Amino acid sequence: MGPCRRRWAVAVAGTLVAATAVAADAPRSARVDPMNAIADRYVSLVLAVGVHDPDYVDAYYGPPEKRKEAEAAKRPRPAIRAAAVALLGELEAVKPGAEELERLRHQYLKRQLQSLVSRVDMLSGTKLTFDAESQALYDAVAPHLGEDHFRPILAELEQVLPGPGPLIDRYTAFRDEYVIPKERLDAVFKAAIDECRRRTLAHVALPANESFTVEYVAGKSWSAYNWYQGNFRSVIQVNTDLPVTIDRAIDLACHEGYPGHHVYNALLEKNLVRDRGWIEFSVYALFSPQSLIAEGSANYGIDVAFPASARVAYEADALFPVAGLDGAQAGEYYAIHELASKLAYAGNEAARGYLDGAMSADAAVEWLVTYALMSPERARQRVRFFDQYRSYVINYNLGKDLVRDYVERQGGDRWAVFADLLSSPRLPSALV
Ligand SMILES: [Zn+2]
Repeated sequence: MGPCRRRWAVAVAGTLVAATAVAADAPRSARVDPMNAIADRYVSLVLAVGVHDPDYVDAYYGPPEKRKEAEAAKRPRPAIRAAAVALLGELEAVKPGAEELERLRHQYLKRQLQSLVSRVDMLSGTKLTFDAESQALYDAVAPHLGEDHFRPILAELEQVLPGPGPLIDRYTAFRDEYVIPKERLDAVFKAAIDECRRRTLAHVALPANESFTVEYVAGKSWSAYNWYQGNFRSVIQVNTDLPVTIDRAIDLACHEGYPGHHVYNALLEKNLVRDRGWIEFSVYALFSPQSLIAEGSANYGIDVAFPASARVAYEADALFPVAGLDGAQAGEYYAIHELASKLAYAGNEAARGYLDGAMSADAAVEWLVTYALMSPERARQRVRFFDQYRSYVINYNLGKDLVRDYVERQGGDRWAVFADLLSSPRLPSALV
């Protein structure tokens, strides 16, 4: 897309050609990293799975001919599976370098390949339970939380939103007062993105030419999406099917942009793909452990950029007015928002019940309305998300908690630890 991206693709191809030439001509003592050849075949396998699964390749900005090859070859699933298993065997035989990043790379490729095999099995008809699937694909299992876990949180919300009728009606009416008017949506998002970027740049060095564009779309199961283009560019799509409340501005600007997905992808491209020539990071397999790190860091990044009190102050002074809302209400709004966000894991329970066959779609909608306080429309959109992305849901809330605990356990400068995590191939199980 555009001349910059094309130039970058050629640059990557050139690097690979040079590496191959060294391997062919140089004496055996010359430094040739066997991991690079394995990584190259990993990229081809991810692209091959993408031919069978349109959601699988979330981003790819390596040599374009590799994608064309995958599309032309249309390798059957059993052949992809066999090649992945063989590659895992070769990987096991390679001893990683002494550097921590090299060890992480080795573990990462192994786990990503195992996850790829599981995804191929699923596409071939293997049925896994929700927990077995999330373990296989994302290297993590979400806790099981019953109704008893959510009831005290709902009781607290009853107290701050008193009145007759069901709590969901009062909660919805409360949130309706904080919807961003459609004609102000773009101005609010632009202001939020500028502020998120400003705060991130104060702590994280980003490539000078990084940028992204925002598009407004409809008819999707998600509320927003970052499509990373390579060359430090992203396209961020915001779904306007349902009303967008004011909290979504900073949440989405941080999550999709700064210091979330856009920054994560840009740092991987800069530090691993370009500086080290690690081609495997030019492809992003959506249904893989990488997604727990991506979604978890994008959600935790909101708290890193906006610690609670700082967020209310900024929103009251700067963002509420752009949305035409009364800044004096920001404190109360975020107190209730914070309380309701403790219901986040209720979504996992609905997804698990629904995908494991214990709940019908209607029952899952009802659970989401009751325990996650989603409006029926949003709950139905969420069940469509379960159909499309399945156990991926745990990456948002469990991912956030794992990333937060990991970053806070390291101590020191939170931004520095966070940026380091975004620049390294750490696995979800290695965060614990
Ligand atoms: Zn995301």
